[in-house]
Amino acid sequence: MIPVQGFDGQKVAVLGLGRSGLATAAALRAGGATPLCWDDSPEGRARAEEAGFACHDLTRQGAFEGVSALIVSPGIPHLYPAPNRIIAQAMAEGVPVDNDIGLFFASFATGDWDDFDVSPRVICVTGSNGKSTTTALIHHILHHAGRPTQMAGNIGRGVLDIDPPEDGEVVVLELSSYQTDLARALTPDIAVFTNLSPDHLDRHAGMGGYFAAKRRLFAEGGPDRAVIGVDEPEGVYLANQIATSREDDRLIRVSAARKLGDYGWSVFARKGFLSEWRKGRQVASIDLRSVQGLPGAHNHQNACAAYAAVRALGIAPREIEAAFHSFGGLPHRSQTIAEKRGVRYVNDSKATNVDSAAKALQAFQNIRWIAGGLGKEGGVAALAAHLGSVRKAYFIGHSARDFALDLAGVDHEICETMARAVEAAARDAEAGDTVLLAPAAASFDQYPNFEMRGEDFTALVQGLPD
Ligand code: ADP
Repeated sequence: MIPVQGFDGQKVAVLGLGRSGLATAAALRAGGATPLCWDDSPEGRARAEEAGFACHDLTRQGAFEGVSALIVSPGIPHLYPAPNRIIAQAMAEGVPVDNDIGLFFASFATGDWDDFDVSPRVICVTGSNGKSTTTALIHHILHHAGRPTQMAGNIGRGVLDIDPPEDGEVVVLELSSYQTDLARALTPDIAVFTNLSPDHLDRHAGMGGYFAAKRRLFAEGGPDRAVIGVDEPEGVYLANQIATSREDDRLIRVSAARKLGDYGWSVFARKGFLSEWRKGRQVASIDLRSVQGLPGAHNHQNACAAYAAVRALGIAPREIEAAFHSFGGLPHRSQTIAEKRGVRYVNDSKATNVDSAAKALQAFQNIRWIAGGLGKEGGVAALAAHLGSVRKAYFIGHSARDFALDLAGVDHEICETMARAVEAAARDAEAGDTVLLAPAAASFDQYPNFEMRGEDFTALVQGLPD
């Protein structure tokens, strides 16, 4: 645990008692503060009380008297579509609102570091898609290279839950836009921006707010090194804002779409090969086509981003290449879960938006596509351009009919449930086909989360005859 510094003897309110909220309460207590915990749900409060924290009703009059700060969980809106009423009250009373990420950056460095040979470093990864894969890949490469490392944030553990860092340790954090938006301190040594496409627009009042939230990672404090995907205009803009010249190598530009040879430092993937260029010369190349755990151009983008981040720490290209080959990939992301009767089954339940589903649809051939769930703002008509490899679609969930209307050009069947979709896709599939779950929708109409949706798909596939 990272004890929170700066609140010794003070009261700090904690709103939201999930994984990160409970870790925050414990870290506050370890730093000498008194956490006042609250969650609108009785289950959340029960969890906190079980863990030995007293709950204080933050909705009551005067709840913020004598309170130094309010720490909120990322799932709770602080501004759009409308601020949660407890957060609104704290802001109106002038109580600073922060989150666990802000506390982490304010508390991470300690006096013990004076005895270290190499100060611990923090790498943060943000972007619309590929954050978890890139974060896990960076962590895996560092581990493979024998560097002490921990991974946390939006993946795995809450940030305040990690162990105090060792000499030379590298902490890798995945940060969502909700987390970067609110953190009052945000000072990574290396910051990575994978890509940008519309998502969570209600929480950020549109694309501008969404980009601004992610951009804070590069603005507040300025990382030593920035790794920026430049395949969208926002990435090009961000890179342009950071670099003082074309040769500036504090910035590593990344692309999965085009050659980027003319900059101070760049990493790009083309035709399945990763290339690293410095000052106009190629310095390394890796064949990604045989890397099992990173299929498709979207994963090649993640490979480039992770490569760039660890190169910035001095890890050698050959060492990174070896680590790529031992990376198993993450569950629910382009994950091959079975091969039955010559048919490959791929679980990409995490493809919850149009962009990530489009990437999955480009990564495979002869696709029997299972999609649908709780569709997002804007519909899925944009996917029509990516259906060249789809033999037939099997639509499920709340938005099944909307998907069928948006994508009228593709042969499809309305299946409603996952069980029926798996059955129909397996019935139709021929050897050489890929049955792909890439929903392009949230899971909440039929499942508690995307993981449970992916597990349901996996169990149904495992139940098919061999
Ligand atoms: P995040 O943590 O940003 O949600 P993940 O690594 O969990 O990213 O991947 C989320 C979804 O996006 C998965 O469906 C995955 O296959 C897809 N994906 C992964 N990397 C990329 C990328 N670079 N661009 C677009 N889609 C991607």
